[in-house]
Amino acid sequence: MKPVQPLEVLRRPDRRELEPEVISAEPVKIEAKGISKIYSSKKSDFVALDSVSFDIRNHEFVSFVGPSGCGKSSLLRILAGLEDASSGELRIAGHEIDGPGADRGMVFQSYTLFPWLTVRENIEFGLTLKGIPLFEKRRISDHFMELVQLTKFAKSYPKELSGGMKQRVAIARALANNPEVLLMDEPFGALDPQTKGSMQEMLLQLWEKEKTTIVFITHDIEEAIFLSQRVHVMQAHPGRIKHTVQIPSSLRKGVDGRDYEAFLRMKRQIVAQIGETSAH
Ligand code: ADP
Ligand code: MG
Repeated sequence: MKPVQPLEVLRRPDRRELEPEVISAEPVKIEAKGISKIYSSKKSDFVALDSVSFDIRNHEFVSFVGPSGCGKSSLLRILAGLEDASSGELRIAGHEIDGPGADRGMVFQSYTLFPWLTVRENIEFGLTLKGIPLFEKRRISDHFMELVQLTKFAKSYPKELSGGMKQRVAIARALANNPEVLLMDEPFGALDPQTKGSMQEMLLQLWEKEKTTIVFITHDIEEAIFLSQRVHVMQAHPGRIKHTVQIPSSLRKGVDGRDYEAFLRMKRQIVAQIGETSAH
């Protein structure tokens, strides 16, 4: 007879306690194989991305860091379907990418809200396009306004909001469409440090609650460590993934008793890796 397991062992662990190996048992959500991007002009061809390959699993939070010009935004635009890769294969949830789609939500550094729509109308924009009935739309926008703490601003227009609030609307708008993945290109890059810090915390809470898969681009290494489970370090000329670093969950923002020494070691390691890539 099997021994009875103590309750402590049977308890379902909190997501944050799970080791990376356990998280990686999730199915692959984004599959990129040999993605290259060549920008051609009359004079020459410029290789912005050279055979970039990676897998991102369901509910993973993955960041790309690297020097300016290493192709981070190009890669994200390709994932979004806003641009075509010159070669390579790219699948999201098993489907080949063919143009933009509601399965991918995007948040950019610059504020991209519709100035003539209120906060609620901005969040409901994609739902309106899809013809979702009013009652259902209201339920979804209520939920996301609450998550990003903007319920009181439902009737405000973007010009009445601070930068951080605008980005919260942009995130809520992206998530309201229930995307397979959330693609974020330096979303907090234009915010002051304090707002940035609270946005990072809010994003982690959203990620936990909504079980979103997030691809996050930043040139802020601390931000990448605070938020991600895995960081791809890119190099420029040509744009490639040079290193991939697994980040222990104990370094995540908001975790009790975070190991500051380990955080600094991780930061130094990634800074050195980027330095190494910039020397090429
Ligand atoms: P990052 O976001 O890492 O700074 P980008 O993806 O924006 O890098 O750009 C990568 C390289 O490709 C840069 O050298 C940039 O000048 C070049 N590039 C980006 N977009 C275009 C374009 N539409 N036409 C030509 N070159 C481009
Ligand atoms: Mg960029």
